[in-house]
Amino acid sequence: MAENKIPYKIFLTEDEIPRAWYNVRADMKTDHRPILNPGTLQPMTESDLEPVFCKELIKQELNDKDRFIEIPEGIRDFYKMYRPSPLVRAYCLEEALKTPAKIYYKYEGGNTSGSHKLNSAIAQAYYAKKQGLKGVTTETGAGQWGTALSMACGYFGLDVKVFMVKISAQQKPYRKGVMETFGASVTPSPSDTTEIGRKMLEQNPDSSGTLGCAISEAVETAVKSEGYRYVLGSVLNQVILHQTVIGQEAKIAFEKIGDYPDVIIGCAGGGSNLGGLMLPFMADKLAGKQAPYFIAVEPANCPSMTRGKFAYDFCDTGMVTPLAKMYTLGATFSPPSNHAGGLRYHGMSPILSQLYHDGYIDEARAVMQSEVFKAATLFARHEGTLPAPESAHAIKAAIDEAVKCRETGEEKTILFGLSGTGYFDLGAYMLYNEGKLVDLVPTDDDLARGLSAIPEVNL
Ligand SMILES: *Cc1c(COP(=O)(O)O)cnc(C)c1O
Repeated sequence: MAENKIPYKIFLTEDEIPRAWYNVRADMKTDHRPILNPGTLQPMTESDLEPVFCKELIKQELNDKDRFIEIPEGIRDFYKMYRPSPLVRAYCLEEALKTPAKIYYKYEGGNTSGSHKLNSAIAQAYYAKKQGLKGVTTETGAGQWGTALSMACGYFGLDVKVFMVKISAQQKPYRKGVMETFGASVTPSPSDTTEIGRKMLEQNPDSSGTLGCAISEAVETAVKSEGYRYVLGSVLNQVILHQTVIGQEAKIAFEKIGDYPDVIIGCAGGGSNLGGLMLPFMADKLAGKQAPYFIAVEPANCPSMTRGKFAYDFCDTGMVTPLAKMYTLGATFSPPSNHAGGLRYHGMSPILSQLYHDGYIDEARAVMQSEVFKAATLFARHEGTLPAPESAHAIKAAIDEAVKCRETGEEKTILFGLSGTGYFDLGAYMLYNEGKLVDLVPTDDDLARGLSAIPEVNL
């Protein structure tokens, strides 16, 4: 080994944890279209949003001016317990692939919640506490967000009511156990505790639930409970903002080793881990300084960017949330079953949607579940980390890019986001190992139903 070899793990000091979040909207050439009040179709104002969201978070949501928003010390102190997260050079994977490419990943799965979601959960809980609220409500699909939020609320002594998509609650009882340990109350959705839940159950008593329905239940509960607000773990501008700690740390680490990524890859559910990793580098692209190639990877069974429409749509099934202009499959779309629970959302962050629409995100790619688990297994065996199935979508694309480099001889620097751990997904790994994992891809007809339910808003 050469003496000046780049280490396997590039660590930062505690002092290098970012002191501000990066707000890409201040730099975007075309800002995304505003979110609309579903009643009036007028842009949502601060006062429209106040019954639902925390005050300070609304300011962040609507802020398109300030490039940097200071991270309060109370949040940074919590970050210090599990950040900075490591940037890892995947030497062993490179060797296995016989690629001249340099592969790096930023690993966010090292905290108890097991994913990047804690970066925003702690910020949202902090502002709810500061506002003097009793508690917050939310939904969770695979369970990562509910877990992260439970940890954050446990830390600040806030109450939290989690609506968990029923099928996930059944498949992942340990997730429920973790949330309850941190003090959350967990209700499988659809439930009979809300009007929307009761309506869903009337239509389909055996419903296994969707993220869109759980969102409606959580919003309804927040609005009807004194001292509660609703919080969300992805899609929103504020969430993408909080996640920029990931990319900022990665940038500092690359500076330390004197390199810069040519390709940046992330899995895309609602866009928060991808946005968080990518946007600090996007700042360089928007400024004309660097031109990294950005790839968003989504599951073939929930292909919002590759097969969806760029249109105003509801963020939930119950149609109680504002309308956002985004890539969407329609709020009524229910993806065929898939084990990357965190990637089953019908829409995409309006910020990332706009950047993709304008060509700043170079490519969106849809991949099959079985290929994803194959990539996950290869990665686990060579790198010694069991990835979340969501994160393995990024691994799959990173491997494909590295294999291309083997063919062309290019020594590209590839960076991908390893958004979480796969410890709560062993059921899916076992199915894969037994050869029982199936690839379900919606037909054009399946998609047409969801797409035709997108409202006509000509803005
Ligand atoms: C929730 C989740 C995702 C998908 O959400 P994004 O907002 O798109 O990041 C990806 N990976 C993991 C591990 C998750 O928990």
